[in-house]
Parts: sequence; structure tokens; C-alpha cells
Amino acid sequence: MKVDFLIIGQGIAGTVLSYTLMQAGQSVLVMDEYKANSASRVAAGVVNPVSGRRFTIAWEYDAIYPVAVKVYRELEALLGIPVFKERDIYNVLPSEQLKQAFMERTAGLSYMEDPSEERIARYGQWLDQPYGAAVVKGGTVLLNGLLPAWRNYLKEKSSLLDERIDLSRIVTNTDGVTYGDISARYLVFCEGAATVHNPWFNYIPFLLNKGEVLQVQIPGFSTPDIIKRSVALVPQGDDTYWVGSTFAWDFPDEAPTADKREFLEKGLQQLVKVSYTVLDQLAAVRPSGTDRRPIIGLHPESPVLGIFNGLGTKGSSLAPAMAAEFAAHLLQKEPLRPDTDIKRFFNRYKG
Ligand SMILES: Cc1cc2nc3c(=O)[nH]c(=O)nc-3n(C[C@H](O)[C@H](O)[C@H](O)COP(=O)(O)OP(=O)(O)OC[C@H]3O[C@@H](n4cnc5c(N)ncnc54)[C@H](O)[C@@H]3O)c2cc1C
Repeated sequence: MKVDFLIIGQGIAGTVLSYTLMQAGQSVLVMDEYKANSASRVAAGVVNPVSGRRFTIAWEYDAIYPVAVKVYRELEALLGIPVFKERDIYNVLPSEQLKQAFMERTAGLSYMEDPSEERIARYGQWLDQPYGAAVVKGGTVLLNGLLPAWRNYLKEKSSLLDERIDLSRIVTNTDGVTYGDISARYLVFCEGAATVHNPWFNYIPFLLNKGEVLQVQIPGFSTPDIIKRSVALVPQGDDTYWVGSTFAWDFPDEAPTADKREFLEKGLQQLVKVSYTVLDQLAAVRPSGTDRRPIIGLHPESPVLGIFNGLGTKGSSLAPAMAAEFAAHLLQKEPLRPDTDIKRFFNRYKG
């Protein structure tokens, strides 16, 4: 089989990159070993312009958001399923001091809104909100629908191999890559956290970051909004919610832990006044680089091998714009931004 691009991994990175390249007229084969707890399958897909305890505006948000909406709407039309849902993020403010800080950091931004008295009152029965709330316009990528639907789409086109690539069988040469009877002009790794075991890219400083979440049911409580305090409640339909998430940089394995469950439940109990049932607990590892920027580009000595990674905590919002920039680099030789280009790590590459 001969293709333009062999893509390894079908998380949000491999999904959006394969779509973008196919839209640009390229032939693509995606190889993905199904992993129930890949970062993309555990994530809630929240797109939020304001993040962190210091209410930082997300990197390049104004440029990235419109590309994300455009691509996800195109995928909706192609796949015939909902992919992106605009949502209000209802931020319950934890103290007077943090309320002031939030207001100062976000003053004048177009995606901010003061919640009406009526809305605050409507939540009064469910939420503990003595310092009020602030609304930010964001959304969610419906990853639970998108990832399997894109996988099926590729399968129908005989463009998906459900297997793990054996890295030792990849052969590179000046005009491409071969893997068994597959030959490609480029092979692009979209392996998420597994990238730290990749011998071609192991000089890149990754700082993997494990996250845990709960699936809960809050009987009778139904809202389309994301509700956020120290944890976020992301609606999953009816009265079930994804509750997350945690961060750990030092972890022995990928399994859910009792102490993170306790942390999440404590955050949930600070936020909701009513009883809930925990349905499940999930954990996955985020592929973050040490400088928290995407990691994109071609190998310094074998420029037929590429990497599309480092989406960290923001795969859903970053993937479409970053895939567009990588495709323009691969196909039109457009330069990458210096802060996402893999070249920033070339001084660590020993060859
Ligand atoms: C708990 C949690 C909550 C999160 N919440 C959000 C959120 O709300 N919003 C947001 O934007 N981001 C969120 N993230 C981050 C987001 O999930 C990641 O940025 C994103 O999923 C990374 O996608 P990826 O495709 O790079 O990696 P992955 O999703 O890990 O996908 C990699 C794929 O490659 C496959 N693979 C790896 N090696 C091989 C191989 N050798 N051969 C074949 N296949 C291989 C894996 O099986 C997997 O399917 C969250 C992450 C976690 C863990």
C-alpha cells in the first residue's frame, strides 16, 4: 500500500491531523492501537478561554478558537453527528479576593458575561455560591462521539489499521518511509504520552501529567452549562456529569487512585449542595512538553518522520489550528511558529 501520510495514533491529534491532510487532497493511513484510557478518551473536551488558578487567558486563544469551531463544524457535516457544543462556563467564585482577581483579569474580554440574578437564583438550590459567579463563553468537543465516528469513517475507506506500530520495523530513506508493505512519503507520530518511548524523538523534554476524573450522577440536576470551581462539572446528558480533573507529575502507573478520588469528591462537595452517586473513575496521561507548547515538526536527520504532540491540557482547542499549521508546513513549506516548532529542541539532539 502506498500513501502520502502514515499517521500513528488516533487521539484528537491524529484525528484532526488526518482530517486536515485528507481535506488537502493527501492520501492517509492511520494506525492506532485502541486504548480505552488514552488522554483523548478520558478528557471532557472543554474549550475554555480562561484557565488555571491565576485566570490566565489561554495561549493564542483568539486565533485558535475560530479554527477549532470551523473544523469541528465541518466534521459534524461530514460525519452527521454533533461534534462541538458551545457552552457557558459558569465559574462559581470561591472567595471575595478571587472574585476581584477574576474580574480584573477578564475585564473587557468579549467572551465574559455577568450572570443574571435570575440565573444565579436558579442554581441556588443546587450550588454553594456565596461569592457569586462569572460566566465565560466556551464549549465542549464531544470526543466520545467524534473519535469512534472518525475511526469508522477511516475504516470504511480502508484507511485505518487497528494495531500497534512496531517501531523497530520502520525503515526511512530520502524519499519516504516503509513499514512492511506500506510505503509513505511521511510518517507522523501522534502517539500522545507514548512518545517518550520513541527513539527518534526521545530528546524532547516531555513532562507527562496524569489526570483523573469521576463520572457522577446528580439526581434531578440538569444543565447545559459547565459548572466550575476547584473542579469542573461537565454535562454528559440528563443528570450525569464528568467531574475533573487532577494533576500529577510523579506517578507509578496509569490506574485511578483513592487519594485523587478523595480530592475530586472534596471539590464536588464544596460546589454542590445535594447528594450524588459516583458511577466511575478514570485516569489518563496528558502529553505535555516542559514549556507547555505544542511540539510539531520533522526529525532533524530523517525529515520524513514527523511529530504532532504536546497538546497538554488543551488538545481540543489546539488540535485544529496546530494541524492546519503543520499541514501548511508539510505541503507548502510554510514555516512553523518558533514556539511550536520542534527545532527549539534541536540543541538537545545528539544525532
Ligand atoms: C483527565 C484529563 C482531562 C482532560 N481534559 C481536557 C479538556 O477538558 N479539554 C482539552 O482540550 N484537553 C483536555 N485534556 C487533554 C487532552 O486530552 C490531550 O491534550 C489530548 O487528548 C492529547 O491527544 P493526543 O492525540 O496527542 O494523545 P492521545 O489521546 O493519548 O492519543 C494517542 C493515541 O495514539 C495511540 N498510540 C500510541 N502509540 C502507538 C503506537 N506505537 N502504535 C499505534 N498507536 C499508538 C494510542 O493508543 C492513542 O489512541 C485532558 C486530559 C486528561 C488526562
